[in-house]
Amino acid sequence: MRILVQKFGGSSVADLECMKKVRGKVREALAEGYKLVVVLSARSGRTNALLEMAYQWSDEPDPAEMDVLLTTGEQESVALFSMLLQDDGIKARSLLGFQLPVLTDGDFGSARIQSIDAAMLRREMEKYDVLVMAGFQGCTAEGRLTTLGRGGSDTSAVALATALHADLCQIYTDVDGVYTADPRHVTGARKIDEITYDEMLELASLGAQVLHNRSVELAKKYHVNMEVVSSLERKPGTKVKEVVKMEKTNIAGVAKDVSIARIAVVGLEHSPGVAFRIFSLLGKANINVDAIIQSIGRDESKDISFTLPRADVEDALRVLEEQKEALRFDHVTVEDKIAKVSIVGAGMMTTPGVAAKMFEALYDANINIQMINTSEIRVSVLIDENDAAAAVRAVHDKFFGEV
Ligand code: ADP
Ligand code: ASP
Ligand code: MG
Repeated sequence: MRILVQKFGGSSVADLECMKKVRGKVREALAEGYKLVVVLSARSGRTNALLEMAYQWSDEPDPAEMDVLLTTGEQESVALFSMLLQDDGIKARSLLGFQLPVLTDGDFGSARIQSIDAAMLRREMEKYDVLVMAGFQGCTAEGRLTTLGRGGSDTSAVALATALHADLCQIYTDVDGVYTADPRHVTGARKIDEITYDEMLELASLGAQVLHNRSVELAKKYHVNMEVVSSLERKPGTKVKEVVKMEKTNIAGVAKDVSIARIAVVGLEHSPGVAFRIFSLLGKANINVDAIIQSIGRDESKDISFTLPRADVEDALRVLEEQKEALRFDHVTVEDKIAKVSIVGAGMMTTPGVAAKMFEALYDANINIQMINTSEIRVSVLIDENDAAAAVRAVHDKFFGEV
């Protein structure tokens, strides 16, 4: 049995007309002899509308109930799309996360998939040609509904492809592949034919929302054949794989993230164990810290700054203030008008001067760098949020302008 997993995002299933186009894609794949699992997102705008509604009802919505509410977006999509397929004589049924089940941990709002019952999927595949699966959702071992984090339907699709040993996992979206920068904001962005799992994982984690970063993490771990394709046009998309041919540019792309903040803990003691105490407390509170800078200690005191998702700032401040006595610091400052701009590329490991080229582009654009953070295949800078769009353009032009 050849199995294909196709995932369609919110804009691809926005209304009846869009869903009919998706049905056309499904028909083509059936004609090629595949059994299909079609993973759908909520119709565009739906998840946001549900979120807004929750905040009209409650100042502090219970995360567990929030997930019960948010899963209805995908439930609506899969029911409507299954009806549409059935009307066309296609044997199809919808499946919700809890029905398989897609088992997750209990981290409501950003749960991680632990296992998927492929036996049930295979049984249902004997009876139906298309299983229409709700993305973004799962449930805990105790039967509570969970969601996987914004953009999480990509991860549902890759997890299903893994569980079924599918031949291919296609992510259909409103652009025709992964680009060197967000094609909606950067003129001159180019489509990438092939990208490595590692580069894609960095780009996705650094703000390129075209793929959910956990979907790439899973695809890499289980060697899932994955591609990003357009749901609007018939064109080759971008293949995400282990090894690709090297581009001349040495970097795969530029990404920006404006959803971060920086916290500075000022006036800490200049003694061993301070960083350990701070970051172990934050870790226990499930707060993911990114760039960290410690000032040079003077007069027996030092400062530690770090970046984190804006959504976690309140929690981080609470944790720090609760432990103020134990951590012995003077005060804490928060800066949330910042952005992170990054370049990603496996080629930079073997090419000197890539970081310098990025810094030169920022200097030419008169943009001040506040913090720098690097890994083997990326360089990230922290800058003023107002400079973010210009910085992406300047850096993108520098690397891709003259190629
Ligand atoms: P879907 O609803 O199909 O999941 P998303 O909105 O999550 O779609 O992701 C697609 C969007 O990702 C595109 O419309 C594009 O604006 C954005 N994007 C950001 N960075 C990139 C990039 N490097 N390449 C392609 N698209 C990108
Ligand atoms: N509907 C969810 C969201 O808007 C999940 C997804 O689209 O992937 O984030
Ligand atoms: Mg998405």
